Amino acid sequence: MYDEIGFVYDIRRGALHDGPGVRTTVLLQGCPLDCVWCNEPASRPRTHKKDPFDAQPMSVRDILMLLNQDRAYHEASGGGLTVSGGEPTDQADFLLCLLNVAKQEGFHTCLDTCGVFAASLITYLLPVVDLFLLDYKAPPEIHKQLTGVNIDPVMATLESLLGFGAQVHLRCPLVPGVNDSEEHLEQIAKLSDRVAGIEILPYKSLAMERHQKAGIPFQLNYIKTPTAVKSQRWLDKMSTFGARNVGLG
Ligand code: SF4
Repeated sequence: MYDEIGFVYDIRRGALHDGPGVRTTVLLQGCPLDCVWCNEPASRPRTHKKDPFDAQPMSVRDILMLLNQDRAYHEASGGGLTVSGGEPTDQADFLLCLLNVAKQEGFHTCLDTCGVFAASLITYLLPVVDLFLLDYKAPPEIHKQLTGVNIDPVMATLESLLGFGAQVHLRCPLVPGVNDSEEHLEQIAKLSDRVAGIEILPYKSLAMERHQKAGIPFQLNYIKTPTAVKSQRWLDKMSTFGARNVGLG
């Protein structure tokens, strides 16, 4: 298990927005989605296809070494390991090895996922993930247009996790004029009753630069990073719909 090799797109040590406390965030290469606002387009090419990618091969043991170096920060802050991507379940064998070892070694674990993965994986994830950070990206009618996939598998994952009593935080990217309709804000507010917390992730226009750098066409050139006032309006609107435990990420 310690020698399993995965392809790591990036590692962010001292991350403050990827779960509780100070985190060591490991971003795995590969994602089945194609979100129009993606902040990490270079993380999308999938490792089992012929797409070119330049992620670093690393063993679970390599990552454990970094986690142990960061352990004091985790312990002082209530932090731990977050596995993100790309979509971390795209390298499912490596992900499970990493999470199993991290749990055995006493680290708190978060899984940052788009929710699109085989249902059979959930029973393997539940014992080794303390907190699921699950994306809830767009209303059903435009989900496929904005992300490349239907919302159904995402909702099935959410229902399954809640059914098993897992701790779930929803992460909701909001792009002005694209997926911030009142109906969507109301739906997020409704879900807030069922999950442990909700994080609103305002769009960042650095997505445009990163698409350009990666040579990938970008559809949102005309959209700017929303102001703090705009983001607060989203929160206020959700409050009027009865949202609880919602914050800005
Ligand atoms: S799920 Fe994340 S990594 Fe994948 S395309 Fe969407 S934003 Fe990018």
